[in-house]
Amino acid sequence: MRSVIKSPGVPQDAPVIVAARERGLPVIGEVEFAWRLLPNEFVAVTGTNGKTTTVGLLGAIHREAGVAATVAGNVGTPLTSLVGELDPGAVVVLELSSFQLEDSVEFAPEGAVLLNVAPDHLDRHGTFDAYLAAKLQVFARQGNDDVAVAPVGLGVEDLGGCARRVCFGPGGELDDRAGQLWWDEQPLIAHDEIRLRGAHNRANAAAAAAIALARGIEPDAVRAALRSFAGVEHRLEEVATVDGVLYVNDSKATNVDSTLVALASFADMPVHLILGGGGKGQDFAPLREPAGRCAGVYLIGADGPLIGRQIGTGVECGDLATAVERARAAARPGDVVLLSPACESYDQFENYEHRGRVFKELVA
Ligand code: ADP
Repeated sequence: MRSVIKSPGVPQDAPVIVAARERGLPVIGEVEFAWRLLPNEFVAVTGTNGKTTTVGLLGAIHREAGVAATVAGNVGTPLTSLVGELDPGAVVVLELSSFQLEDSVEFAPEGAVLLNVAPDHLDRHGTFDAYLAAKLQVFARQGNDDVAVAPVGLGVEDLGGCARRVCFGPGGELDDRAGQLWWDEQPLIAHDEIRLRGAHNRANAAAAAAIALARGIEPDAVRAALRSFAGVEHRLEEVATVDGVLYVNDSKATNVDSTLVALASFADMPVHLILGGGGKGQDFAPLREPAGRCAGVYLIGADGPLIGRQIGTGVECGDLATAVERARAAARPGDVVLLSPACESYDQFENYEHRGRVFKELVA
C-alpha cells in the first residue's frame, strides 16, 4: 500500500501531511517504518533529558554482558539505515524523541524506558499533557512479556500497555538509598563507584541498570559498565587535567537547566565557568546564586553582556579563546574549568559540537 513516511522534524499539521491524510494515505514515522522491517528486539529510551547518556550506558552494559547490541535513533544513526544490515540477533538500543514517538502507530519495544518529563518543546506539542502523552506512546502497545521502566514519583498511575512495570529511584525496585543503588534488595553499586558525575547521571545509571537487570542481564556486567562508562562527548566530558586543573566540556548544555545540573555536579570543587552565546530569551536569574559561588565566571558570545547583568557577575571575554586563556591564568591546582554555556552556539559556531571541539583544541 502507498504510504507517506514522515521525518520527525515535520509537524503533524504540515500542509503536505494534512493533504496526504485527506487522501486516505497512511502516514507513519521513520522509526515506525524501520521497526516494522527489523526483526530485532528493541530497548527504547525516551525522556526530556539524559537520553543520549543512557543509551550510551546501555550499549556499554550489553558489551560487558557479551550481548550483541547496537545504539541507534536520535543519536545519529537513523533506524532505517540498519534495515538489511543488522544481525537479527542483536538488540537495538534506541534513543527516541517525543516527535518520533508522536508518529508511532504499532511500535512496541520489548523494553521501554521513560527517564523524566520536564516541560519542553511546548511550541510544538502545545500543552504539557500532549507532550507527556507523546512520551507515553513508548509503553502504549507493550505486551505481558515486555518491561516498562519509569521513575519513582512520575505521578502517572497507569503508564498504558501491559508490560511489567519497574521503577527506579528512592523506594523503587531499582532502589537508590543509603549511598548505593539496590536491585532485588541486594546492593548493586555504591554511588562513588559510578564513573559518571552528578545526581542526574545517577538517575540515568539507575534507569539503565533497571531495564538491563529486568531483562535478565547479570548484575556483574551492569556493575562493570557503571564503573567504566565515562560518558558521551560534549556532556560533562572530562577533557584533560593540565597543571592540576580539570577541563570539562559540557557544550551540550544549551539551556539554563543543563548548566545548573553541571554546576551541581561540581559542587565540591572551585569552578571557573565559561558561559554565554545565544541566550534564546531565557531568564538567567536562576544562575545568579550558583554563579556567585564560582571561583570565576567568563562570559562569551552575543548575549554575554546581557547574561552578566542578569547574574550580577562575570568577566566579559567576547570569544571562547579569550575565556579559556583567562580561566587558565586564574585557575589553581584542584580547580575545574567548565564550559557549560547555557546558550546556543550559532552566533560564533556551527553548532554545539563545533563549540565543544574548539574548546578541546584550545585546552590541548
Ligand atoms: P538528551 O539526549 O536527552 O538531550 P543527554 O544525555 O545528551 O540528554 O544530556 C544532555 C544534558 O542534559 C546534559 O549535559 C545534562 O546537563 C542534562 N541531563 C542529563 N541527564 C539528565 C537527567 N537525568 N536529569 C536532568 N538533566 C539531565
